[in-house]
Amino acid sequence: MTVLVAGAGVAGLVTALTLAEAGHSVRIVDKAAGFGPSACSWYAGGMLAPWIEAATQDAVVKRRGVTAIDWWAERVPVTRNGSLVVAPGRDSSELARFARRAEAFEWLDGEAIAALEPDLAGRFSKALFFADEAHLDPRQALVALQARLAVRGVTVEYGADLAAEMKRHGGTVIDCRGMAAKPELPALRGVRGEMLIVRCADISLSRPVRLIHPRFPCYVVPRGDGHFMIGATQYESERRGPVTVRGTVDLLNALYALHPGFAEAEVIETGADLRPAFPDNLPRVVSDGRVIHANGLFRHGFLLSPAVARDVCEVMDGRQAEFSHVPDRQRQSA
Ligand SMILES: Cc1cc2nc3c(=O)[nH]c(=O)nc-3n(C[C@H](O)[C@H](O)[C@H](O)COP(=O)(O)OP(=O)(O)OC[C@H]3O[C@@H](n4cnc5c(N)ncnc54)[C@H](O)[C@@H]3O)c2cc1C
Repeated sequence: MTVLVAGAGVAGLVTALTLAEAGHSVRIVDKAAGFGPSACSWYAGGMLAPWIEAATQDAVVKRRGVTAIDWWAERVPVTRNGSLVVAPGRDSSELARFARRAEAFEWLDGEAIAALEPDLAGRFSKALFFADEAHLDPRQALVALQARLAVRGVTVEYGADLAAEMKRHGGTVIDCRGMAAKPELPALRGVRGEMLIVRCADISLSRPVRLIHPRFPCYVVPRGDGHFMIGATQYESERRGPVTVRGTVDLLNALYALHPGFAEAEVIETGADLRPAFPDNLPRVVSDGRVIHANGLFRHGFLLSPAVARDVCEVMDGRQAEFSHVPDRQRQSA
């Protein structure tokens, strides 16, 4: 029996490919006209940083996220150059505090930073280097996943009417619609994130650099060809709409603190969307009759979607999976 996957963001595409690779017949439908700004996945930074996330997130994010690097690298272009965490001099005690909670890194001094990232020479006296981390370009990666699905005869059916498809389709439906599933998942909330893309020919970075920031996890991800993604603000707000002045100023200040040479960079894109999140910021794979909801990837869409997809397979086979366990306090509203 064919499995119908609703939603072709990162959750839907990774789930559809995982199911197809496991031998299932799959269809994937999306109501948008194509992959673009209507999917939260469009805005992601693409850091695969389980050990950095260990500093601030539940331990399960690292434990389930570490396998994502190999999962993606086996299927799409992934850069495995590690990642750096730095702090302006006045925040060096914050860097030490961050280091106490993070895992699998080494301390670098100014010379070692310059050896890794020559353009950061003289900018920071200390950094944390997470050698095993990786990053990808989310837009390229999702297009590459679609190509892999196409090889298996699965093409995303854009412009679909899900209600009509569900009537026609008798079998299992995997609901990966992100925030659009909120009516069925009332505990889901949106956490607003804003990002920018700049072009700067004068500075080159080989890996994502995260800057300790008092209000949000701030990082600069090189996208090649002089392009850099700067993300991402994190507000408890479900307001949609373009980036705010506050968000833009915060992101650009962080970029400037990383290197004043970015002052001449051109801002070529701004964007904002809502990250789908449950109250504990962990994903859920919730079975509701013939519909299995895979949602709540919060800021870990790329890091946790392979694990979520594996849990979808478990739940389809009638087994309990880690992300299908809903804590009692949330069960009523999940
Ligand atoms: C600024 C920003 C930066 C981020 N950075 C990172 C990062 O660096 N790393 C990371 O891992 N995560 C990051 N995230 C989070 C990540 O983007 C999300 O976790 C992820 O995109 C959620 O994916 P999803 O597939 O659940 O939802 P979406 O990407 O929103 O996909 C849902 C899909 O469902 C479709 N849909 C909606 N309604 C219907 C319907 N009725 N029928 C069919 N289809 C429908 C939509 O068109 C869409 O394509 C970031 C998020 C933001 C906003």
